[in-house]
Amino acid sequence: MIKLRFLFFCLLSSNILLAQSSLFLPRNLEKNYRNGTRSTDGKPGPNYWQNRASYTIKASLEPKTRLMSGEETVTYVNNSPDTLKTIRFKLQHDRYRKGAQRSGDVTPSDVTDEGVRVQDITYNGAAVPDDKRRRYATWLDLDVKQTPLPPGASATISMRWSYTLPAGEDASRECVCDSSTFFVPYWYPQIAVYDDVRGWASFPYTGQQEFYHDFADYDVTFTMPRGFMVWATGELQNAEDVLAKKYYERFQKAQKSDAVISVFTEKELQEGGVFKKGDRNTFHFVAKDVPDFAFASSDHFNWDALSVVVDDKTGRRTFVQAAYNTASKDYYRVADIAAKGIRLMSTWMPGYPFPYPSMTVFNGNDGMEYPMMCNDASQGDRDPTGLTVHEVSHTYFPFMMGINEQEYAWMDEGWASTFDMLLTDSLNNTKNARTRGYAFAAGTDNDVPPMVLSKNLGSAYRNASYQRPQAAYLGLIDLLGYETFHKCMVEYMDRWKGKHPIPQDFFNTWNNVSGQNLDWYWKPWFFDWGYPDLGLGGVEKNEAANASVILVNRIGNQPIPVHLEIEYTDGTKQTVHEKSSVWKDGKSQWRFTAPAGKTVQTVTLGANTIPDTNKDNNKM
Ligand SMILES: [Zn+2]
Repeated sequence: MIKLRFLFFCLLSSNILLAQSSLFLPRNLEKNYRNGTRSTDGKPGPNYWQNRASYTIKASLEPKTRLMSGEETVTYVNNSPDTLKTIRFKLQHDRYRKGAQRSGDVTPSDVTDEGVRVQDITYNGAAVPDDKRRRYATWLDLDVKQTPLPPGASATISMRWSYTLPAGEDASRECVCDSSTFFVPYWYPQIAVYDDVRGWASFPYTGQQEFYHDFADYDVTFTMPRGFMVWATGELQNAEDVLAKKYYERFQKAQKSDAVISVFTEKELQEGGVFKKGDRNTFHFVAKDVPDFAFASSDHFNWDALSVVVDDKTGRRTFVQAAYNTASKDYYRVADIAAKGIRLMSTWMPGYPFPYPSMTVFNGNDGMEYPMMCNDASQGDRDPTGLTVHEVSHTYFPFMMGINEQEYAWMDEGWASTFDMLLTDSLNNTKNARTRGYAFAAGTDNDVPPMVLSKNLGSAYRNASYQRPQAAYLGLIDLLGYETFHKCMVEYMDRWKGKHPIPQDFFNTWNNVSGQNLDWYWKPWFFDWGYPDLGLGGVEKNEAANASVILVNRIGNQPIPVHLEIEYTDGTKQTVHEKSSVWKDGKSQWRFTAPAGKTVQTVTLGANTIPDTNKDNNKM
């Protein structure tokens, strides 16, 4: 009875609110509100669900042949209201399979006929015959029509697999960094996402759009030849078994150390005394509630580690590590930068306790995030702070907040590209935060509204995922002020941590928590074509008040703050900053009245943090 009344209330209220919302709701998303999986106030709906998996994987890597192989058992829980007749796995390495759809070239010698070799698939203990397996793009579909998976039930799937790690120069995000150093993502058959928005995910991994995975638990072992260390997502369970006493003690000390400790140097690792056994080692990692798992290995890297308090209420610490080549001149700084960055992320920007127990920044070939792991190239003589904090801050988006980057990359790249600048300025005591060149692309036919699904973007992908949302988020922080921004961010994270928010959940939550209807801001920034451009329209004299009035015209449709640097003829200067809310009601001109008696000599409009497509009208 209570339940029925509640349902009725939900339907009623959501219909009313749906009608009130001025933002376009794609027709295919209406069902999520009718079904109660999403709510118009931005909270997960009363019927929100998502599926879950737990993986047990025994893997090994042969450095000489680059052969990666493993056996895995996955337990998959169907929390959806649907009976699943297909179980879909991702074989992301199949991007290297002959004929695969790719967003960019790969080195021809890395392409193979068969991609991932998969064998001995069982579903609930029964073998899955060849004619019940369908391989296409980067998918492996198991046809389980005969024994479908009903709502609330779980299934166990097991298989053996192997492939050769791509080593060509076009390999990105993953790395055969040298003949005995590896960074390995996209390595195990992973269950695809089945969600309330689209059912089974259907866009393959082509090398461009990044993550969309369900949350899962992992129990993983890696067996490596003599002399190789393994770093991975999760926490190393058997450090005491594999590391010689001296190195185990350093490892233990680093768990509680605020300062960087060298667990071992490249030289110590190469000399051979780091491990207890002079034979193959098996490294055991456990990770809970993460959307993916990556690992790295080398027989000649340095390992720095320390830890940092990420939650002052509980004293919880995160173990922060850097693994790197001695030749990477900047990398001796990286563990410390990552730890200080994580502290700032936890307490200030975004200001939410870092969710993971561990983070390793690995000296690979890219700038790429994975849960608890980053593949970051050395920055050489340049400062590694920006790259380090960018990739580490991805922990929040898309990992802790399970963003679907194949559809909504701006929901995570935009934030990482905002956090990194602000964090870098705070760590380096600089004031270099700026927009990332959005003004150059803005308003061109390649500046696509971010609400166009990421999977449908080619050359427009980067601007729509990074530059434009970063400019929008910087403006949003300015508009709300830190306190309201932080309140919205924390509540958004509390509501959607470990779940899959979509854009409507973001817009609705921020409207709801800020107590303001921000649709006037969301619409031009995320839904509409357009560009930001303010221009100075001259100075008028208000004779009655004996004051100069500076006219600022809104030429572009995207709302940006008004920032004026004014010099008066008496040599005095004034800075004026007006939030973008000045344009909220659609007016096309804003007037600034200077103090009485002052005559304006020069005016400069704009700031590095404000995108403006036409700067010719910004000086007077
Ligand atoms: Zn990023």
